[in-house]
Amino acid sequence: MNHILSNKNFNIALLGGGQLGKMFLAEGRRLDININVLDPNADAPSRLSANYFQVGDFKDYDTVLEFCSGMNAVVIEIESVNVDALQTLEKNGIPCFPPSDVLNIIQNKAKQKRFFRKKKFPTSNFESFSNLKALKEAIKNGQQKFPFVWKISEGGYDGFGVKIVKTEKDISKLDDGPCITESFVDIDKEIGVVVTRSLDGDISAFPPVEMEFHSNANQVEFVICPTEISDDLSKSCTEIALSVAESIGTFGLLAVELFILKSGEILLNEMAPRPHNSGHLTIEACNISQFEQLLRCACQLPIGKIELLSPAVMANIVGAENHNGPVEFIGLDKALSIPQTTLHLYGKSQTRPFRKMGHVTSTGKSVHEARERAKEFKSLLKIRSRTI
Ligand code: ADP
Repeated sequence: MNHILSNKNFNIALLGGGQLGKMFLAEGRRLDININVLDPNADAPSRLSANYFQVGDFKDYDTVLEFCSGMNAVVIEIESVNVDALQTLEKNGIPCFPPSDVLNIIQNKAKQKRFFRKKKFPTSNFESFSNLKALKEAIKNGQQKFPFVWKISEGGYDGFGVKIVKTEKDISKLDDGPCITESFVDIDKEIGVVVTRSLDGDISAFPPVEMEFHSNANQVEFVICPTEISDDLSKSCTEIALSVAESIGTFGLLAVELFILKSGEILLNEMAPRPHNSGHLTIEACNISQFEQLLRCACQLPIGKIELLSPAVMANIVGAENHNGPVEFIGLDKALSIPQTTLHLYGKSQTRPFRKMGHVTSTGKSVHEARERAKEFKSLLKIRSRTI
């Protein structure tokens, strides 16, 4: 085999330079692969470990085309990149992870839900609206009933862009723009499965994880592996995730989020065609991480056979409420004394309420032990701003 790692000129373009990029770069460094990063923010988390870092807009067609031309593969770490530019690059023979047609569907929640419906994957009922006015009209004439979940069609992340609407009063909290409404479903557990699919169709899934949400922020607080769900449910979640990845025909990573309802039914929530928060614990808990799997796909190296080495819990470390401004870490010395914990900081200089500033992964003999460590770590470390 003509081994890509011996080809010094092999170059990957990474669109987006946030924390996902930073962790991807760490694997690139370890395996000696050149990674070139494009991000609009000169202070982006990936700036230090990139082989080459360029400030530029990954939403702009010409900028993306110019940046990626001559590269051997293109990888994204954020969904909002210019899809038309990826399509042109593919026509020019540069593989993109994910392919442009997959990204085109996933960028938009209405298109994602239509895809699930067309392919008969189980998902909650939904309607799409071109703007808030159209949604308000549907409410007025009784077509849209309360309660429902409102989601902005494009650009939402980490719960920003999702609102539970119970009564007329909640409508004032919604932003204008294309949106979907979903029927409010009775969730028991939220499960994530990260799938890897190589260019030659090899496919494998990381073990399902359970995502536990912070009650105020509508944001994941803990990710737990293995889950406590039954083997049958776990197998079904994995099968659905593998089947979605094959059906949409993606390459690289696909993070699939599922709901297990109180009734026991499994529904697909959404998917992300890139490394995902629910896969961060694979760095410490598995023999191969989600980032290395993606790197192997991009380099056309065989993807790894996944083994879970230890129970693990990941906790997001987010900015404290009411704190905006230059970041300050308080209690780090005490937190770092907890055994079997690994801290990842994202290098963001400014904190905001619930902004993801880092995460900690803890391992242990049991999920319970790992969880206690992660909880203690989180309670000891506070992320504040120096000026309130
Ligand atoms: P994001 O893309 O911001 O992560 P999600 O679509 O995952 O948005 O929604 C965020 C959270 O809102 C979910 O993890 C879940 O807790 C809740 N949620 C989303 N859709 C529904 C629904 N149809 N019914 C009940 N809760 C929901």
